[in-house]
Amino acid sequence: MEDLWKKTIDKELDAFFKDKGSCSRTSKRLLIYSLEWLSVGYFSALYMAGKKFAKNSLAEKCGSDDMREANAFLEDFFVKAEMGELKLVGESGVRYVYRVENCSSCAGMCPVGKQICYFEAGIIAGFLEAKLRKRVVVRETLCGGLGDDCCEFVARAS
Ligand SMILES: [Zn+2]
Repeated sequence: MEDLWKKTIDKELDAFFKDKGSCSRTSKRLLIYSLEWLSVGYFSALYMAGKKFAKNSLAEKCGSDDMREANAFLEDFFVKAEMGELKLVGESGVRYVYRVENCSSCAGMCPVGKQICYFEAGIIAGFLEAKLRKRVVVRETLCGGLGDDCCEFVARAS
């Protein structure tokens, strides 16, 4: 059952990025909220889908391994994919902190007592893993799902 859902999510997300015109912000939200109701473990599936996409496809499109340029590329990608405005707000050694304003998954939603932007967290993780060539874990610390007015992602490389 879980495998089937992972495949479904992968397929839907591929379609979302291939042909954004046919998938509005509302339908992406609908997809994510429906999966919450229907599936157990979809959060990790979303995270893995985002990570796979960023590692296999997005990171290759960014020619530079220089972290300043790579982060600028990632910020640009979030805007182009209409996912929100991503900004690197803190960096110390192996730790990167990003904020996303107007996140397409959670901005303005009714708080549900938990963070929901696992796909976005996965994208950041996969992208950083490819660029840093290290294992990276990303945790979302602020989210519209928690009632915050932006998302915050803390990435830790090891
Ligand atoms: Zn969020």
